[in-house]
Order: sequence, then structure tokens, then C-alpha cells
Amino acid sequence: MGKAIGIDLGTTNSCAAIFENGKARLITYKGGETTIPSVFAIDQEGNRLVGYEAKQQAQLNPQNTVAASKRLIGRNFHSKTIDKVRQVFTYEMVEGEQSDILVKVKDQVFTLEQISAAILREIKRVAEDSLGEEVDQAVITVPAYFNDRQRQAVRSAGALANLKVLRVLNEPTAAALAYGLGRNLSARVAVYDLGGGTFDISVIDIKDRIFEVVATGGDTFLGGVDFDDRVMQKILRDFLEEHGVDLSWDRVAIQRIRDASEEAKIKLSTVSTTRIHVPYISNGDAGPLDVDLEFTRADLEKLTDDLVQRTIQTCERIIVEAGCTVKQVDEMLLVGGQSRMPLVQSQVTQFIGKPPSKGVNPDEAVAIGAAMMAHSLAGVGTGTEGLTLLDVLPMPIGINKTDGSMHVLFKKNQPLPDYKTRTLTTSKENQRSIMLRLYQGESKYCEDNERLGTFVFSGIRKAPRGKVQIEVTFHIDSEGILGLTARDKATGQTVESQLKLGKGGRGSRKKRKKRQEAKPKPQQAAPAPLTMPTSGLAEQLAADKAVPISKPAPKTEGKGAATAELSPKRDEKKGFWAWLKGLIGLS
Ligand code: AMP
Repeated sequence: MGKAIGIDLGTTNSCAAIFENGKARLITYKGGETTIPSVFAIDQEGNRLVGYEAKQQAQLNPQNTVAASKRLIGRNFHSKTIDKVRQVFTYEMVEGEQSDILVKVKDQVFTLEQISAAILREIKRVAEDSLGEEVDQAVITVPAYFNDRQRQAVRSAGALANLKVLRVLNEPTAAALAYGLGRNLSARVAVYDLGGGTFDISVIDIKDRIFEVVATGGDTFLGGVDFDDRVMQKILRDFLEEHGVDLSWDRVAIQRIRDASEEAKIKLSTVSTTRIHVPYISNGDAGPLDVDLEFTRADLEKLTDDLVQRTIQTCERIIVEAGCTVKQVDEMLLVGGQSRMPLVQSQVTQFIGKPPSKGVNPDEAVAIGAAMMAHSLAGVGTGTEGLTLLDVLPMPIGINKTDGSMHVLFKKNQPLPDYKTRTLTTSKENQRSIMLRLYQGESKYCEDNERLGTFVFSGIRKAPRGKVQIEVTFHIDSEGILGLTARDKATGQTVESQLKLGKGGRGSRKKRKKRQEAKPKPQQAAPAPLTMPTSGLAEQLAADKAVPISKPAPKTEGKGAATAELSPKRDEKKGFWAWLKGLIGLS
């Protein structure tokens, strides 16, 4: 058996840690870096690049560079959240046969599991280099608010990367382990985790080596990239107003402005003013045009205040769900790079009534906690024995009722693992199969939730209607992953069931409209989209001002494209060295 490591598979960056000699430490990469960008690309020569090599060439090759793919993993191509981001991503997305999202890079189509596997494979390779031993097992962390389908996808990615996934662990829980394991604590902590792409909050009771999650919640579409996006949108708007040039169609310009926006945002965590300068972004009548502006912390806070407020509102809700008050929370841990923003720190301090804990490093805690868990599960050595983790389900799982509402089988925040049994009956003479749709999400209506899949129970014995009863047992494991078994109650025989992810989760347009009209109107206006589509910026402003409009909308692809192999292949035209470099992961 090889070594077991903990992997924090992040939206923007990933990192890994190992527990050795009674202590967890981060694994360092070449040049002493402890993180690897979660980026995959194929360059102009056809070389597959992962991590730094992929990130470095992103500005020149944005359409073939896949970043922030964690935001898409395990999602339905037709889900509302994907509608929002389709136009702001610089790479092309296509629909898979199961309505999953595939990405097209240099005319090759990949599943998101393959993209994540490429990143995991790179982490495994570097860890093996650093440790001088084989690494074949890992605990991989996921946002607490990931649903079943997203968790399954991360498991599959691990398997594709030749890693035995010991456990898919929630990121805030991992951070709590890093904070509390071995300190003999008795405390209630809240972990506020604002990373590159997701926000989570978990309330966790620590009693020495027992870590019990009481409540969890979050937003898988709220993270650092949304803050970058706000800055980028402002720059694009100002540029359009000042020069009459719409850069929103130019993928290279977008990538350069996005990078400059992130850089400025990070700087403004330590200084109060910075300059954003992106030279030669476009050509005007009088020659090349630059983006060049003074940008202050106050400007950034004005643009992003509502994002921070959304995290605080979620904290309020989850603390209520935990059945306690803010005062009963002993410590608030801040995790995730975006939590370094001063506005986040001040808002959290105001909310909790005291400064957040300094007990964990926001960038390292998740990987460190995952390494502790990996060590404990691998059962090698001492230091993590007796570690017990009790987690909860992040959002309800249920089945569709005929009126489109969801019959909840498993409630939000219920302890894991658990199982439920339901009996299904045939409604027609000699009915041979029964179909059941499963959903996960917090809405009362199935169409607003993520469809986990359609189970088809087939091979049912012929009988008059209502005479066959199928007992279905749904079980969710300690990771929040769903499975089911079915049997004929009369004969005791197992009934074959097949999972089909199937087409979209939101029903037909007509049905959706009808249900929408039947639904009670919300008191408040719906929240603004997380990311404003960059395409069509000129059209939006042109309504008010006379500005020129450039470029047509990007074209979309058909569905069901075959996916490419993600292990490097020898390409005769590129020769042996290019192939070998691809094989060992060098650019
Ligand atoms: P993580 O997923 O935890 O690696 O977080 C990455 C996110 O944190 C990215 O969106 C970064 O831009 C952001 N980030 C990193 N450092 C800082 C900082 N000092 N201030 C604000 N945001 C930061």
C-alpha cells in the first residue's frame, strides 16, 4: 500500500497535505509552492498542461484553458445556475448524453471528471516526487453544500486519477479537524469558508476527538471569482463608456482583465489603493488603448458589499438551523483565500460580536484536516486514532409528487448515514417497470432543485394493477452519497434498478411556466445574478447611450459529443519529445 494524503481540490487552487510523525504538513511543489492552480489547458502545439503551466498561458489561449471547472462538476447542462455562467466562461461547454456538462478544448471533448482527474493526477505525481513514495489513497474535500451528484463526480475523478478515495470530506469539517484535533477541546465552532468558487458555513461541536456537525449550508456559486467578476464588469463598462469599445466579446482581453482584477483585489487586502494597468487591450482611432485606473479598497467594497452580505445572511440562517444563538458559538474560524478580504473580516466580527479565531491558516486548514482524516482512515501509525466524524446532509433529498412538489425523504441537516424505506405499487395491468425521479435541493418544487437521476425498476412480474408491491430502500452514506435497493415484497426477489441521469431537471418550458404561475409570489425580488453575462454588454448599455456594438453571439455545439482520452497520447506529427513531455506533465 502506498501513502494516503489529503487533497483540497479547490475552484481556483488545489493543495495537498500528509500526516506523518504525529503532525500534518503541506506538500510542497517545485519552487516551494504549496498550491497548484486548478487549471487544465491544451496549448497551440497540442500539449496538455495542468497547474502553473496551464495558468501561465491562459491569457494567450483562453478558449482552450479550463479554469474554475469545479463550478460545473456534477451539474445538469440545463440547470438555472449553468444558464447564468455559460456566457462568462472563456471555454466552450457542450451537452453530454446524460445532460451533463462537457468542455471542448482544442476540438477535443472532456468530461469534468476527466478535467478534475488531470488535476488530481498532477497532485499525486508531485506528492510522489516530494515524498519519494507511491501515493495511492486520498481523502478529497468538497464544499459542504455539494449535492449527491457533485460528490459522486469527485469520487469518479479520484478513481480516474488512480486514487483510492478513502472519503469525500466536507471542507469546513476538514478545517475544524485542523483546528481541534489533538487539543482536547469542548467547543462549538462555526466555520466560515469563502474560497475561490464556493461559500460554506458549518456549525460543529468538538468534544475531544468527536467532531459532530450540527448544521451546514452555503452557496456553490459564491466565491472569489464573483468578486473578480464585479471588478472586471466595472472595467468593461467604464471602457465601453470612455472609448466606445465593447471588450466583452474578446476572450483574450477578458482573461487579461480578469487576472488584473483578481490581482488588484488581493492587493487591496493589504493596501488601500492600487493601480490596474492592462496595456494594449485594444486599438482606438488614435492608436493602442490601455486599461489604466486607480482602484481603492472603498471601490472594491462598494462593488462587492452585497456578496459579503449574502454570506452573513447564510450564517444567520445556519446558526438558527443549528438551534443556537451567535453568542453560543465559541469560535468562528475563517477559511478560504477570499476570507482574507478586510470587509469579510469586519462583517464577520460585527456578526459574531468578536474577532474571528486565528487558530487556523485560511489557505491550509482544509488540506491539513483532510490529511488527518486520511491518516486516520488508512489506519497507519498514531496521532489520529479515535477520531470520530458525524456529518449531516447539506440539503433535502426527495422524490417528485404528481403536482410537481417534492416529497422529502431525507431532511436537511439530518445526521448521516441514514436509510428510508418506501413502497411503490403498479398502477397498470401487467406493468413491467416503475420510474422514480430523485431530486436534491431546498425548494418545495422539484423543478427548482437538482435532479439526481431517474431510477427505473424493471423486470417486475406480470400481475393485475396494484398487486405488485416494490419495497425500495434509499440509503445515504456518511459522505452524503445516495444509493438504493429494491425488492418485490411478496417474493423477496431483488428488483433490477437502473439509474438514468436523463434530460434536464426542469421539465418542459410549458409545464415550467404553468407551475411558475401557480406558485405563490415571493415577498422579495429575486437576488441579482451572480455574474453578469459579459456577452451583450454593449447591447445592455446601448439602450441608454449611443455606443457601437461589435461581434455576434458565440455559437453553441450539439449534444452527445464523444469525450477524449485524458491520458497523454503519442501524436506522430509532434514527435517523441512532445509526447514524452505530455506524459510526464511538463510543458
Ligand atoms: P481558495 O479556494 O481558498 O484557494 O481561495 C481562492 C480565492 O481567494 C481566489 O478567488 C483568490 O483571489 C482569493 N484570495 C486569495 N488571497 C486573497 C487575499 N489576500 N485577499 C482577498 N482574496 C484573496
